[in-house]
Amino acid sequence: MRQPVILLGKGEVSLAAADGDVLVEPEGSGLEGIEALLARSPRAAVVTSGGEEGFFRASLCLERDVKAVVLRRGAFAEAHEKELATRARSFGRELFVHDDRRGYERVRAGNERVQVGAPEVSAWEAAVRAAGRSKRAATIGLDVDVAWEEAAEAAEPLPMDAPVPGLSENLEEVAFTNGDKPVLYLVVPARSLDDVRARHPGAAMALARAEAFPLAVEGATGRRIEGASGEATVHVFFSTDPDLAARAASLWEQGSSRNAAAIGELLGYPPCCTAAFVALADRRNNAALVYVTAARTRALGASFHPLLDVAVRRVVPFTPCSFGCARAASAAARVVASLPRAQAEPLTRALARPVLYLDEARAVAFEGARIDGAAITFESARFLPAPAPLDSEGEFFARKLFGALFEGGGTLVVTDDAFEVRGASFTRRLGRTSPRLGVLLPFGGSSG
Ligand SMILES: [Zn+2]
Repeated sequence: MRQPVILLGKGEVSLAAADGDVLVEPEGSGLEGIEALLARSPRAAVVTSGGEEGFFRASLCLERDVKAVVLRRGAFAEAHEKELATRARSFGRELFVHDDRRGYERVRAGNERVQVGAPEVSAWEAAVRAAGRSKRAATIGLDVDVAWEEAAEAAEPLPMDAPVPGLSENLEEVAFTNGDKPVLYLVVPARSLDDVRARHPGAAMALARAEAFPLAVEGATGRRIEGASGEATVHVFFSTDPDLAARAASLWEQGSSRNAAAIGELLGYPPCCTAAFVALADRRNNAALVYVTAARTRALGASFHPLLDVAVRRVVPFTPCSFGCARAASAAARVVASLPRAQAEPLTRALARPVLYLDEARAVAFEGARIDGAAITFESARFLPAPAPLDSEGEFFARKLFGALFEGGGTLVVTDDAFEVRGASFTRRLGRTSPRLGVLLPFGGSSG
């Protein structure tokens, strides 16, 4: 049987030239509907919607080896077309635009990459650099005027979220011990290498570089910066097969970015997630990855699987292709299932909460929450321990600011311009400014 052509998105398209073997994405079928079409090994995909809906559909097809991806001419912003063409080139594929009048035309890759789904990246980087490690980092993207400054000073700080007692610092090591990963990759301070090695007595170890390098983690973005400051750090690979550990270390040494697909396979990451990661314009800003994954999840009509609530805890160490990725969720489920019940149960509860995520330093989880479209009604809020925290003064100010905003519960609505919390007798409004940080991640919470 001839491989079909698939038609993705809502836009109108004339199929005068098609010869009957065209499969159309059923409206409202979400990611499952798209996956069902991709499972038919289509020879080509025609993407009819523009915007993020179309962008992430086209990227998904390129990542899944669809030989020809065709965009409806005029449906996409030029920068998005060029970004998709760059992605096509990196997968050895070609991208076309089409309309009935002018037919097919190949799209050329651009020089500049675009991180579709992330906040304004250059404004963001500038704000992070300007704030440095100061209290100002707590207000990036927020319009904190004198009134908010005073409200924050007067407020109780938002309570820190309680840790799950006894839970491993690094759940990736749990997955490795379970036999779910051929190779375990860790970035650890050189001084704790002996301790880490002692935790994996049956495994061979390989270092990606013989010597340790100073490494600092940038607050807010979570970007790892190698250089003059920070703690001496090593990149280390463990495997019960010494050849695999050595191979992973050598691939990393030759270029962790260039070899991301091969390394992902050795680390046991789902191929769909590795391909989506390889496709990205920029893989260094960890906070941007959360935004991109959330945008892609919404664009593809996927769900937010609670076990992939990366803002509360990274149960799997890779970036899932979407928060609804079934393979990523089942990898996370295997980790949770292997934990003692006294850890698994509180962890599962903690993960199943909606989150307002700003960056790797500032995220808030909602308790007793109900999700109603774009609004979240909640009883109370908790500040989440940060993977890349601010300094203590900055973090304390962030907690007081969010304490003032979320005190007593209410309904949170996120608009382009503000975070609004409405209660029975009040409306609080905290303005948003460039680079407009803040995305609602509707994990868990009952739907209204
Ligand atoms: Zn995936």
